[in-house]
Amino acid sequence: MTMFLATPRPVNLNPFIESTIDWLDRRSGADHNEVPAPLPLLFRWGFRLWPARCLVCSGAPDLRYLDLCRRCLCALPFVVSPTTEVVPLRYAPPVDAGLRALKFHADWRWAAVFGALLAAWSQALGVAPVSSLIPMPLHTARRAERGFNQAEQIAKFAALWLGVAVDQRSLIRARSTRPQTSLSAARRRDNVQGAFELHPSYRTSFVQPTSLALVDDVRTTGATLAAASAALESVPGLTVQRWAVASTMPTNTTSPA
Ligand SMILES: [Zn+2]
Repeated sequence: MTMFLATPRPVNLNPFIESTIDWLDRRSGADHNEVPAPLPLLFRWGFRLWPARCLVCSGAPDLRYLDLCRRCLCALPFVVSPTTEVVPLRYAPPVDAGLRALKFHADWRWAAVFGALLAAWSQALGVAPVSSLIPMPLHTARRAERGFNQAEQIAKFAALWLGVAVDQRSLIRARSTRPQTSLSAARRRDNVQGAFELHPSYRTSFVQPTSLALVDDVRTTGATLAAASAALESVPGLTVQRWAVASTMPTNTTSPA
């Protein structure tokens, strides 16, 4: 497998980025005796039928089951100081373009890349294992208009890499909200306050203490993630981690030294 090790790694690589790449390497080469179970056969066959291309440089990728090469992965705008939230990237090129390609042009290849990165970053941070991933829900009208929920697509791929379930039913967006980007921080909190509810069956089906992760595409002030996790945490014994692909906030914007 020397061919996968041929690309030199930058010497100043942030240890979390290195752990992220190591995890992707290990996970993509997992054999049948390992936990979690190997990546699904259909997913792996997809890469045989349609060989991957790096979404950033168009080169042949040297990371298995990923449309991204090692060099471009290392050059992504990672956050410098990981927080308790699992947010690996800054909303900067080429991440912003990738998120827009997913959201407005349904480019699933970016959902696959972001899902893999989110899964690997959670492992690099060493967060508690989660039993399932809950995508940030869209209001029914918004979802119908777009045809899909981008957070759900990202969560599906993250779950596939982690070997856990995706729960698309338990959390509901009870009312439509204005786009957060058009509002001040205080207005953002008001905008999403009480916007989320639990599906009635969830409260009764939930029996054991467990940890799950709420997955969003972009984190702005964190108000949406906070409001949604508050709805989930109304269930006793439930711990909710907040995950998002990229943060737009300037507090997280320093590049790895
Ligand atoms: Zn590349």
